[in-house]
Amino acid sequence: MSDSMIPAYDRTNVFARILRGELPCKKVYEDDFALAFHDIAPLAPIHVLVIPKGDYISQADFGAKAPPEMMVGFWRAVSKVARDLGLDTEGYRIVANHGPNGGQLVFHFHVHIFGGRTMSHAMGSMPSPDNAG
Ligand code: 5GP
Repeated sequence: MSDSMIPAYDRTNVFARILRGELPCKKVYEDDFALAFHDIAPLAPIHVLVIPKGDYISQADFGAKAPPEMMVGFWRAVSKVARDLGLDTEGYRIVANHGPNGGQLVFHFHVHIFGGRTMSHAMGSMPSPDNAG
């Protein structure tokens, strides 16, 4: 897929608006690098999104542009959120959708944390509310 299929960062995207406090969220965690909040349409008993505090479109954009301290801070926040949600022992799944084929709908990089039930080992689709996907 060419980069031209990914739109430029749009500062009016819903997660940018949540970051700026223009839209509400059910906050789980916040630090200098990341904000974590419950997904509005959960696909598992626990479904939390972690987003970086910066204008990154996707995981690829984040990987290419984020300074090292942001990368470390962001991924430490993902781990901390999962741990603080009590998911470390039973386990959880993290997902980052990139671009159209990845099913990305919001073009501000985010990591999904799914927990609270057993996930199917099949990884071709997102978890759904009523099956073990
Ligand atoms: P994507 O498909 O881009 O990886 O996932 C976007 C996620 O954002 C979806 O799971 C969707 O339910 C969630 N979402 C979309 N709009 C909102 C919103 O306004 N608030 C919250 N908390 N989640 C949202």
